[in-house]
Amino acid sequence: MQTAEIHRRWLDFFEKRGHTVVPSASLVSDDPSLMFTVAGMVPFVPYLSGMVPAPYPRATSVQKCIRTNDIEEVGKTPRHGTFFQMCGNFSFGDYFKADAIRFAWELLTTSEADGGLGFEAKDLWVTVYEEDEEAIALWREHSTLPDERIQRLGKDTNYWSTGQPGPAGPCSEIFFDMGPEHGIDGGPATDDDRYVEIWNLVFMQYQVADVKSKTDFTILGELPKKNIDTGMGLERVAFIKQGVANMYEIDQVRPVLDRAAAVAGKMYGADHADDVRLRIIADHVRSGLMLISDGVTPSNEGRGYILRRLLRRVVLQMRLMGVMGASFAELFPVSRDAMQGAYPVVAQDFDHISKVAYAEEKTFLRTLASGIQILQTAVAAATDAHTAVAGDTAFLLHDTHGFPIELTLEIAADAGVSVDEQVFVSLMQEQRDRAKADAKAKKGQRADLSVYKELRGLGETVFTGYTELTHESRVL
Ligand code: ATP
Ligand code: MG
Ligand code: MG
Ligand code: MG
Repeated sequence: MQTAEIHRRWLDFFEKRGHTVVPSASLVSDDPSLMFTVAGMVPFVPYLSGMVPAPYPRATSVQKCIRTNDIEEVGKTPRHGTFFQMCGNFSFGDYFKADAIRFAWELLTTSEADGGLGFEAKDLWVTVYEEDEEAIALWREHSTLPDERIQRLGKDTNYWSTGQPGPAGPCSEIFFDMGPEHGIDGGPATDDDRYVEIWNLVFMQYQVADVKSKTDFTILGELPKKNIDTGMGLERVAFIKQGVANMYEIDQVRPVLDRAAAVAGKMYGADHADDVRLRIIADHVRSGLMLISDGVTPSNEGRGYILRRLLRRVVLQMRLMGVMGASFAELFPVSRDAMQGAYPVVAQDFDHISKVAYAEEKTFLRTLASGIQILQTAVAAATDAHTAVAGDTAFLLHDTHGFPIELTLEIAADAGVSVDEQVFVSLMQEQRDRAKADAKAKKGQRADLSVYKELRGLGETVFTGYTELTHESRVL
């Protein structure tokens, strides 16, 4: 089943059940305290929080999302993209837990021939908050799941709260079992990658106060208007339904992976490290395409910094597979072609998108060229003196010249010398501490406009910086 078909079935299903179909909002959220739209519920926060009366009692959408906090997972797990689409159904004081559970089960397990997603009940598990007897009873009533596949988990995973006084409530998540060859038995409670989370149902049920932490608060009582907020990962369902191994191999992403492999002269599946690189490239090219299409341009801070980082990581991963020159002109048109069915605007705006992306690639390739000269001098000196390349040289290259540590290590290793990584890592740590202190100061000045504090964590990796993550990402 193509991704577009799952998308269509989702909206149809909920539209038939009285939901207003709301188009995806921009990746650039209206909430100034939120870097990007990180979940389907973001555009609906004013209604969910009761700040603004909802114009409809129920809504459904397929929302474009960016989660920078998942960047280190990309390509390594089968299920984390920096860009992805979250299918959501929402109730604003209208239906509650029973219908949310009933709808989810029906859509997932109705056969493909009858318009559903055609999952087999035997492959599904659910988790519920351990004290939510109501949810347990409802799963028993509305699904055919045996009791042992309804697992109770604690507040840390199955409770939604903002960390502030206001709405909170239990959640229930649906998982797909990829099978015994993918890990251990025991269900999602084992936290094993064998079980892929596909859908999260949040029941906004209580008014809480006296909040000490996300899991430590007092329940004042039931909310006068209870809400439903759910999110199903479109790419996750797509990869399962398409019978491929991960979300980078679905119809909307795989063509980019294949083109990158062709450009690099690699065979996908032949080498684990290269496979991870190809998946990262396919993911990041798509994220770049979608971000530029929503008006973001590369810069040294904020949203533009994230975009810059994604684009540069593509260049770096291509370089690590031996591609020295430009490749965006090969990759971006392929991503456009794969995405324009769902988002025709990426074709209409492609002139602009490609100009922005290709210019960033050119700048970074120039940076790499001048960094390589500095490094070659340092490598020659280290070879003569029978020492390692100094850690502060590696840091300077990284910090001042934007030259990634991965390349420093690789080029030094090629020349048979090592790099003083200990000094490099401690300089990185110092810089990270400074960035954190900075971010804290900035945060303090910012008005706290949203009660949805938890969500913000999903888009705030930015403050720890490119610096921190490039080094970690070298374990590819
Ligand atoms: P995980 O535990 O797998 O990281 P999550 O609990 O962070 O997922 P939620 O915040 O509950 O995810 O988001 C709702 C749904 O959106 C998830 O059940 C999943 O299907 C999808 N989703 C979340 N993050 C991603 C991502 N980075 N890439 C693709 N799909 C995602
Ligand atoms: Mg997550
Ligand atoms: Mg989860
Ligand atoms: Mg979840």
